Parts: sequence; structure tokens; C-alpha cells
Amino acid sequence: MIPASLVVADIGGTHLRIGHATRGEAAPETSAARTDVLRVPDPVAALAELLDSHLRRHHLKPDAVVIGLPVSLARDLDLVLSSPNVPQLEGLRLGELVGGRLGRPTLLERDVILHLLGEACAGGGLGFQDVLGVFFGTGVGAAYLEGGRPHRGHPVSVELGHIPVRAEGRRCVCGNTDCLEAYACGHTLRDLAAGAGLPVGEIFLRHAEHPALKGALADFVRDQAYAVATAVNLLGPEVTLIGGGIPDMPGYPRAAFVGVVREHLRRPQPHDSFQQRWASLGWRASLHGAQRVVEQRWG
Ligand SMILES: [Zn+2]
Repeated sequence: MIPASLVVADIGGTHLRIGHATRGEAAPETSAARTDVLRVPDPVAALAELLDSHLRRHHLKPDAVVIGLPVSLARDLDLVLSSPNVPQLEGLRLGELVGGRLGRPTLLERDVILHLLGEACAGGGLGFQDVLGVFFGTGVGAAYLEGGRPHRGHPVSVELGHIPVRAEGRRCVCGNTDCLEAYACGHTLRDLAAGAGLPVGEIFLRHAEHPALKGALADFVRDQAYAVATAVNLLGPEVTLIGGGIPDMPGYPRAAFVGVVREHLRRPQPHDSFQQRWASLGWRASLHGAQRVVEQRWG
């Protein structure tokens, strides 16, 4: 079934955005808030209120509401198993609870899957069926579409942010040590920038002024590239889509990053058939991805 109208909430670590799409066309109107509004004792009421006010403001009666969020979901795709960014969501059947308040069917999806589905139907992954997506932002998110559908584990998989690297003992938000995410995410960049006395947004432009920083950023990009090469060697996707705020930063060495990935792919395959694209839609990928979520779940 193709839904006539959808409302989508895209919840990130810092910001939360709500938008809508009608007959597959994403509307430009957006409601935004800080994710902090959900870090309260009753996050269900807070989220339902934000969604309801978007519905009222734009006179919407959507067929479905889709919520994308940075969490691990149980196999029923409704129970939130873990939510390091917004711990108040853990243990909740969030779709059922929010949907009950709105009186609308409400579906949950992991944010990376929602964004990757959107990029695959309207952005950088357009035209491909087997797509690996890796997003480097505040954290590291990854997902894999196989035949256009998200690969799901038991119940979680493609947790590329939590593969072990380096063995320096850094603690990850998940509680383990030495996860990629402890070395190659937005928090790492903020710490490096603070140490060098630079604004984080200029860190890739001005590293030449700080020899130690230059080496640390080279290690940072190498860790990202090794992780992506690992995933490509494991999964053999048709195309690898890279997104998130970090590759979009001024001066980020995109060509060097892709070069290191390519250098570490097994030859002749997947090395010779490796294709890479950049995510192009930002958060609005979720508006396109939500359409695909509903189509796939409602058949
Ligand atoms: Zn971890």
C-alpha cells in the first residue's frame, strides 16, 4: 500500500525535526525542537504533543506517523531496547504509546535505516538495491539494504560504530571499550579542537598549524576508512553511501578517506567493483525513507 500522507519525526542526538509528505512529495514545512524536550520523565507525552501540534498547524490527518530515532529496537520494531542518547525512551513500546495518543498508526525505525532508505529512493543511493550506508556524526551509524530492504540481525546488526579498534582503552557510550565510536565521532573532534584551541568547525582547515593535531586527524580519518573497508569486505554492497555531519565539514579529506577505503578492499573483488556515493538529502532523507518503511511493512 502506498500511503497518501505521512508525518515523520526525525530524532537526532541534539535536534528533533518533524515534517510531512503527501503522495510521495516531501513538503517544505518543518517543525524543529531540541532533543532535550524528550529527556523528561514522560517522553511519550512530550513527543505526542510535538507531533500533534505539527498536525494541527498544517491541518494534517496522515495515514501513518513514522518516527526515526537513534536506538536499538526489538524484533517487533516497537520496543526500544537501548537508547544511549535519550535513556528515558528505553523499555517503552514507543510507537504503540505515541500512536495511541495521536489516534494514528505509528511506526518506529532506526534513524540510520530511515535515512538510508530515503537516500536509496531519492538521494545518493538512487538506483541501487544492495546499499551499505555509513553515517559519521555525533555517533557512528550504519545500515545495510539487501534487495532494497533493511538487513536486520537478532535483533541488531551492522553496528559498525561498535567494532573494536586501537586497544587504547577508551570508553564508548555503549559501555564497552575501544569501539570505533570512541575514536572517530563528533565527540572526538570536539575534544581534539578544544585541545588545540580551535573552533571545531575549522579543525580540518587549520590542522597544519598544529603538528600533533594533524597526526590525530589522520588517525581519525584512517579509523573511519578502515571500518568502512571492513564492512565492504564483509557485505559486498553494490554501492557504499557515506553521510553524516563529519564528511560535510569544511576541509574534510574526502578523497583521502575514499582512497584508504579502496586500498584495503580485497582484490579483485570487492575492490574492482567498489562504488561510493555521498549522502545528499540530510535529515529530509527521512521523509522519503518513511514512505518506503510504510510500503514495506504494510505490503
Ligand atoms: Zn560501543
